[in-house]
Amino acid sequence: MTTAIYPGSFDPMTFGHLDIIKRASLITDRLIVSVLNNSSKTPLFSVEERMAFLRQATQDMPNVEVTSFSGLTVDFAHMMGATVIVRGLRAVTDFEYELMLSQTNRKLASDVDTIFLTTSLQYAYLSSSVVKEVALYNGDISEFVPPYVEKRIREIMNL
Ligand code: ADP
Repeated sequence: MTTAIYPGSFDPMTFGHLDIIKRASLITDRLIVSVLNNSSKTPLFSVEERMAFLRQATQDMPNVEVTSFSGLTVDFAHMMGATVIVRGLRAVTDFEYELMLSQTNRKLASDVDTIFLTTSLQYAYLSSSVVKEVALYNGDISEFVPPYVEKRIREIMNL
């Protein structure tokens, strides 16, 4: 049985993340989507709300769980009995950072491997920060995030 974790900030989750989740869930037995509780970043949404968005989006996927973690990703993987870390690759700009991250994680834990899923083309330029930026200037984000996420972004930004 293959258990994988899909770690990230998910601040907030986008259709790009969801695309990776759907596809990763088809090739793993158990997929744990894990919201990183990173004290050095100032997120727009609390960890609880980020998890709630992800839970709502994945409620029809029986082998997907949503949780949060802090600390080293490989320590969390060990704790969950996961041997795979899933990451998404959008464009070459992601590559250098992701390569460094995966090599570091391999050094820290040789029993955990990172797999990369390339994003579907329509989401290749989508990121949580782009969504927040577009929303801030009152642009249409309905093609980037589910309606409940859009509603909360607008509430928080007072739009
Ligand atoms: P982090 O802060 O760890 O990069 P993110 O929430 O931004 O967290 O991203 C989590 C993972 O999802 C990363 O592997 C990132 O490359 C991937 N990802 C983000 N946006 C997309 C997208 N539009 N399509 C595919 N993968 C994505």
